[in-house]
Amino acid sequence: MAHTSSGPRSVAEHRAAVAALLPPLPVAVRDLAGCLGLVLAEDQTAPVALPPFDNSAMDGYAVRARDVAGASEPDPVTLPVEEDIPAGRTDVPRLRPGTAHRIMTGAPLPDGADAVVQVELTDAGTERVAIRAAVPEGTHLRRAGEDVARGAALLRAGTVLGPPQLGLAAAVGYAGLPVRRPARVLILSTGSELVEPGTPLQPGQIYESNSVLLAAAVRETGGTATVLRFVPDDVAAFHAALASHADQVDLLVTSGGVSAGAYEVVKDALTGRGVEFLRVAMQPGGPQGLGRLDGLAVVTLPGNPVSAALSFELFVRPALLGAMGHPVVDRPRTRARLATALRSPAGKRQYRRARHDEGRVDVTPIGGPGSHLLASFAASNCLIEVPEPVTELPAGAEVDLILL
Ligand code: AMP
Ligand code: MG
Repeated sequence: MAHTSSGPRSVAEHRAAVAALLPPLPVAVRDLAGCLGLVLAEDQTAPVALPPFDNSAMDGYAVRARDVAGASEPDPVTLPVEEDIPAGRTDVPRLRPGTAHRIMTGAPLPDGADAVVQVELTDAGTERVAIRAAVPEGTHLRRAGEDVARGAALLRAGTVLGPPQLGLAAAVGYAGLPVRRPARVLILSTGSELVEPGTPLQPGQIYESNSVLLAAAVRETGGTATVLRFVPDDVAAFHAALASHADQVDLLVTSGGVSAGAYEVVKDALTGRGVEFLRVAMQPGGPQGLGRLDGLAVVTLPGNPVSAALSFELFVRPALLGAMGHPVVDRPRTRARLATALRSPAGKRQYRRARHDEGRVDVTPIGGPGSHLLASFAASNCLIEVPEPVTELPAGAEVDLILL
């Protein structure tokens, strides 16, 4: 999707263009341990019933209900205990009428038994047991298939696999599941001013932070991130850094070097090589780029930390989730009333960091619109989205929120 008009592109257009760069990722069976947060690619049925066999829901005694029908506190029924059935016993003999088997929770119910008397209603005997209460048929039994019948639908394609879904898959015997594999993202931070946290700062240097934020954001989607952290503002160094990694990833995300100044290394390195640089009508984060470098999908983010973070949030995150098969790629939204007035540039969609507490009708902008104000982003839990034509909003105005 080439950008032809000379004016800025809308947020929605750029979002669609970035999404179009990332087709659905291939499906492969992965061990359950590696499936958390990934999306099931094919419907699954249960190869075994759950529970797989009738079993006891209590520690106690397997009996025939009619054999203990007359039992009561003052007048217990005493039965010989013929077997001991711990969980895991596989050779359970039939219960003979007029006898009991001692049985533990999860142990298979012997044929011939139709109820379990919990141990608390007995004298806990091992040779003979005195039973102090009558129990109806079916008491404390878990029937085979009462959770899931054999062959029944278990998990649908498109399910995001969380702990309960993974537990269920394991419970019916799956060791792995077919999922769209995690997106592999190369994060490349450019800037000759960037140094490693933990080393002393010389005047003019700053600690590199975008790659940490962006890699974490990639991992939050379920993708994997490889980081090239200190690529100087030098075209040859940029290409050299990229060369050894480009064929191992699905997407290259760069930070910095795409604005209008001199030394815009990403622009200089990628212009005319399949990557297009343009402006998106938004604040912060106007300068953006995208395309393919020798087949590799590339998204270039501006370097200001909040611009980079917001661009990832709006453009890259939904594209990655979509490629990994997520049915929902959008954050939840809501509406709230501004606690304080705000201004927004004409013709740009503004995103303001803000705090909105559940159950409250108001939302409080935090900090200004400046794209370097990272602390206010870290203190936020939502973004206020101000439409392009709006330049001023009074306190009390209703606004759209993206909940982070
Ligand atoms: P640029 O887009 O390269 O002109 O960078 C814009 C601003 O963001 C400059 O103040 C940079 O120092 C800062 N910046 C760029 N990349 C990073 C990074 N990886 N970590 C922290 N700050 C950065
Ligand atoms: Mg830079």
